[in-house]
Amino acid sequence: MSSHSSVAVFGGYVKRRVLRHLLLYLALMLLVVWGLVAVEQARFAELAEAGGKSNVQNLSRAFSEEVKATVGLIDLSLVQLRGTWQRDPADFAQGVAEHARHLRMPIHFTVTDAGGRLLYTNDGAGPPGLALGELPEFAIHRTQAGDRLYVGRPERHRVSGQWSVQFTRPIRDAGGRLTGVIAAAVPPSYFLRFYNSIDLGPDAAVSLMRLDGTIIARSSLPDGERYMGVNMAQAPHIRAKGISGMFRKVSVLDGIDRIFAWYKMPDYGLVVTVGQAVHDAEARFTQQSAMMRNVGVVVSLVLGLLGWAAIGAADRRRRALRALAAAEARWKLALNAAGDGVWDCDITQGTALLSPSAQRILDSEHATVSWFGSNGLAELVHPDEFGAVRAALRDHIEGITPDYAMVHRIRMRDGSWRWIEARGTVTERGERNEPLRMVGTFSNIDARKQEEERMRRMAHEDPLTKLPNRVLLDDRMRQAIRVAARDGHKVGLIYFDLDKFKPVNDTYGHAVGDRLLCMVAERVRGVLRESDTLARVGGDEFAVLLPRCAQAQDTERVAAAILACLEQPFIDGPRELNISGSIGYAMYPDCGDDGEVLLHCADLAMYDAKAHGRNRISGSYRTRVG
Ligand code: GH3
Ligand code: MG
Repeated sequence: MSSHSSVAVFGGYVKRRVLRHLLLYLALMLLVVWGLVAVEQARFAELAEAGGKSNVQNLSRAFSEEVKATVGLIDLSLVQLRGTWQRDPADFAQGVAEHARHLRMPIHFTVTDAGGRLLYTNDGAGPPGLALGELPEFAIHRTQAGDRLYVGRPERHRVSGQWSVQFTRPIRDAGGRLTGVIAAAVPPSYFLRFYNSIDLGPDAAVSLMRLDGTIIARSSLPDGERYMGVNMAQAPHIRAKGISGMFRKVSVLDGIDRIFAWYKMPDYGLVVTVGQAVHDAEARFTQQSAMMRNVGVVVSLVLGLLGWAAIGAADRRRRALRALAAAEARWKLALNAAGDGVWDCDITQGTALLSPSAQRILDSEHATVSWFGSNGLAELVHPDEFGAVRAALRDHIEGITPDYAMVHRIRMRDGSWRWIEARGTVTERGERNEPLRMVGTFSNIDARKQEEERMRRMAHEDPLTKLPNRVLLDDRMRQAIRVAARDGHKVGLIYFDLDKFKPVNDTYGHAVGDRLLCMVAERVRGVLRESDTLARVGGDEFAVLLPRCAQAQDTERVAAAILACLEQPFIDGPRELNISGSIGYAMYPDCGDDGEVLLHCADLAMYDAKAHGRNRISGSYRTRVG
């Protein structure tokens, strides 16, 4: 239950960390992607503004040209009709009709006398004699000398309610005295025909004003008439010097942000403006802009998914590595607990990392040791086992054996040898299957080996005298007979029993008897050659194997030497012990073919010697030969 919940807690922690990395990545990625999109969008906005500027500039020029042409025509008509009025008033009405026909514009002509009383109009409204003298476009000529065209404010017709703009010129006699005023009335909307021929988007605005800022005509206002005649003296272009220019402004009239270009016509006291709404100019780039945004969205999604996958994969890898490290730590711990030393070998480097217990087992000062070179592990292997170690390692590395396992000795720093058991496995291989890493253990098996040796010795050794026992004697006899059979020489076997040994035990105690047995062993050993085997085969019975004899006399000579040495007193502390021996001997092949028969013969001979009074030698070969 608790491990379950800790797993859940750990899982939650991992998820939170992955989520944090993902969020960080997303934040950075989105910043970069949308930063780039924003830069592109800004470039589009710049392009839009530059495009809008050049459009309105060109169009304002064209608009001014058109206004100039229209006003020029109106003025020409005024001048021509004024001549007709002065020369031939009777033809005036006909002249007016002709002009109106040729001009093809909704135009009406009016003539007043110098006082402003109506003399003629084709407007159809207003009786002759109507006083128009107070209207500025008529009054101006009374105060202003010379012959100049005057453009009036837009006014509503008193009867029809239609808006019109009056263009007036003075009528003067030869003396220059004002005799009347001739006027042409044109609806302001006529000037906005231009607006219909351009395509600057739905929120474009064109206007015609007097230089004093009075609006004569303005397009694109739902209730455009409200602004007719309004004075815009504060507008930037009215205040500006020069003939043309540009500005950007949020309209006070409709609240739309526009780029304006203006063009002044000082001859007529007029100025035109052409404005394009910034959003209309930008609309040309909306498609590109939207595409850019879509690209941004797609790139964000793709990068987001890739990031998610990459971060997830990295996290899985990190968790796997951590699990691996934990598993490794666990088995190292387990092995250390078991008393084994762990080694971890980097095969390409030729070095091995030793755990503390491995260091202890190898008696190594360093945690990292090399395999080869002076004091490398290879050099510490006992020469007797070095070849086998190298072969076993090679077999495992080449994949012939599933594991490397070897029991061998290794040199300690003090020069002594210790038995160890080494085990290992190649845990990592490269692309060409070459071994990269090998991991394994060392166990100290010295104690086990010593115990084995002790057991082996015990099986073959008499514990009291340390002489070979019966088992080892049998073994050596078998070997000696095999060699003798092959090489054609003889084998001698002497068997002797101490005379009157029991009384020594009885008189001085068992311990003295024991010491006497040891002294006998030592003394008899002294009269033998290195290649001879002296064995204790019973309580006070010994046997001597002479593996290489030319003849029976050789054996008899040795038996005599033994007999002589036993006769000599043995000194044990204050005591002098006197014993003797009864000796029998037998020869191979004279007495028999195997060790058992040989021993039996020698034993019988020994009894023969006992029976004949002890302290003597009896050779069984005689009985057989003789
Ligand atoms: P004999 O002259 O006929 O050989 O007689 P003996 O007194 O030597 O006695 P025998 O050979 O018949 O018996 C050997 C005695 O040695 C019997 C036993 O009490 C004694 N003995 C056997 N093994 C040991 C031993 O390990 N230590 C000691 N102290 N005495 C032993
Ligand atoms: Mg005896």
